[in-house]
Amino acid sequence: MPALPLVGRHALVTGASRGIGAAIARTLAQQGATLTLLGRSAAPLQALAEELGPAHGVATADVADAEQVQAAASVARAARGPIRILVNNAGQAESAPFAKTGAELWQRMLAVNLTGCFVCTQAALPDMRAARGGRIVNIASTAAQRGYAYVSAYVAAKHGVLGLTRALALELAGEGITVNAVCPGYTETEILQQSVARVVAKTGRSVEAARAEFTRFNPQGRFVQPEEVADAVRWLCGDGAAAITGQAISVSGGEVM
Ligand code: NAP
Repeated sequence: MPALPLVGRHALVTGASRGIGAAIARTLAQQGATLTLLGRSAAPLQALAEELGPAHGVATADVADAEQVQAAASVARAARGPIRILVNNAGQAESAPFAKTGAELWQRMLAVNLTGCFVCTQAALPDMRAARGGRIVNIASTAAQRGYAYVSAYVAAKHGVLGLTRALALELAGEGITVNAVCPGYTETEILQQSVARVVAKTGRSVEAARAEFTRFNPQGRFVQPEEVADAVRWLCGDGAAAITGQAISVSGGEVM
């Protein structure tokens, strides 16, 4: 039987406890990768690591805190070897009209969604450089490719993620390391449920009407599933995607083209 394509590769996935991150972790584990699941709460990460098997482990850190992330990366490296794949997935999406977007919300969105990618990449990149090979996949959003009203801080942060992706792809192009962004449209996860709940609370609409408000963006008229995002990540992490770098892959039913 041929070996699984990612056997022997240590993959660090941030925000892996649920939603898109958990789907990515499951998919990469099925491909043979050894996972470190990173997030702020240990219990759900531990539960997923146990589901995946004894080769995998967890690390707790806030992605925006460089000290915590460096410490987590050291623990992960000591337990499972140099990091060869980094999936920057941890993120949060808070909405507010621009006039009501205070400095604190603005900083929070930039910190987790953009600075988190910077901090985790700084921590993992030396391993990839030493190996002269690696994969960095940033989970951005269609909010990196187009604008949406009432989420200006999130949209600005995700556009920043795409800028970081492109700049770093060029810097690392000669070192066998690819850097790409996967840009999901509205995807069926907790983040989305919270957005639907906010629309219901603010407008008094039914849950069905609020959900329709989001699916109308997708030409396929549906939500993206976390596993569909994970499959794009799987492809980008494989050897066959060695020539793909600096790209924004929209997983959005054609919302962006
Ligand atoms: P989710 O279900 O809310 O999961 C977010 C994950 O990130 C959780 O594991 C959470 O765990 C972790 N996290 C949040 N803040 C963190 C921090 N400061 N440090 C470390 N971990 C943190 O969200 P999701 O829908 O799966 O979203 C995953 C990514 O996809 C995000 O970057 C999001 O912007 C992007 N995305 C989502 C959608 C969508 O419609 N769902 C669309 C486009 C893009 P803890 O809270 O326990 O730390």
